[in-house]
Amino acid sequence: MKTKILEINPKKIDLAKIRIAAEEIKKGKLVAFPTETVYGLGVDALNKKAVAKIFQAKERPFNDPLIAHIADIKELYRLCKQVPPVALKLAKAFWPGPLTLVLKKSELVSGIVTAGLDTVAVRMPADNIALSLIREAKTPIAAPSANLFGKTSPTTAQHVVDDLGGKIEMIIDGGKTKVGVESTVLDVTVDPIRVLRAGGISVEKLKEVINQVKISKELEEGFRSPGMLNSHYSPQAKLILVEKKGDAQVEEIRRLASKYIAQGLKVGIMATEENQNKYDRIEVKVIGKGTELEICAANLFAILRSFDKEGFEIIIAEGLKEHDLGLAIMERLRKAAAPK
Ligand code: AMP
Ligand code: MG
Repeated sequence: MKTKILEINPKKIDLAKIRIAAEEIKKGKLVAFPTETVYGLGVDALNKKAVAKIFQAKERPFNDPLIAHIADIKELYRLCKQVPPVALKLAKAFWPGPLTLVLKKSELVSGIVTAGLDTVAVRMPADNIALSLIREAKTPIAAPSANLFGKTSPTTAQHVVDDLGGKIEMIIDGGKTKVGVESTVLDVTVDPIRVLRAGGISVEKLKEVINQVKISKELEEGFRSPGMLNSHYSPQAKLILVEKKGDAQVEEIRRLASKYIAQGLKVGIMATEENQNKYDRIEVKVIGKGTELEICAANLFAILRSFDKEGFEIIIAEGLKEHDLGLAIMERLRKAAAPK
């Protein structure tokens, strides 16, 4: 199959082009498109056969549920059996935006979308291309990240081509995504509400709107949420995450780098701007200032992919602070560093 690339300027949406992509969705085809978080691989969420094709293209196991993307809050009532007041409050506060709400599903939603669960994950993306596409397709769009299962999520159309070129009908190229990490997944069917996956909306921001939010135990311990039990976000290279602080962190990274270089391996370091000059004669890629976690999040996946493209065998990553978007970054780095 030849994958068609459709360039669309996110600042000046060409509706004629959006309609071409929407027609593909209506026909049950796979269309990758940008959202503010990462690129998604979209299909009509109400078309079971089309949804099944997502799992095939991504090589994703069927036990990993998908997020349904909507462009109008009214759709929440079609897809969900109950919308508790707190869900509505959160939707009003953060939508469109990188927050996914897990609610009791309605009859309309097939088990193939939800991996057989009686809940469905729903989100309204803050991206004009994504919103226009959903509106023009006139259906909720089920869309996981548009990467091969287990790989880092794509933040550019080229990343999607690299993973799924030739396997899907169309990719909308709307440039680099802004947030760069996936949405925060919140289970609002339980009390207190639980963060199942850290993401684009920080826990600090959530706490400004709701009093009590529990971070799922597994997350505190490192990672994991339903369907995320498998290794994720993995670059080809072996990734080592060094979580020490200050000078001890730099020392440990230097020691590890020397060890692997002595073994003849190609070693790269992912460092903050503040530390970039502390690793003599070792290749460093800068994720951003350690104090600017939003920028670090936006750069994270592209940097991991560029290490792979350039043939690095070992990536040693500096651990970042775990507040704000740092929590989402660290959750992903820990998963990437977990033994395969
Ligand atoms: P992705 O779209 O690839 O970023 O992955 C979506 C993630 O959302 C899944 O891996 C799950 O962890 C989470 N998710 C989706 N649906 C549900 C659900 N019904 N209950 C809990 N988590 C969900
Ligand atoms: Mg994903």
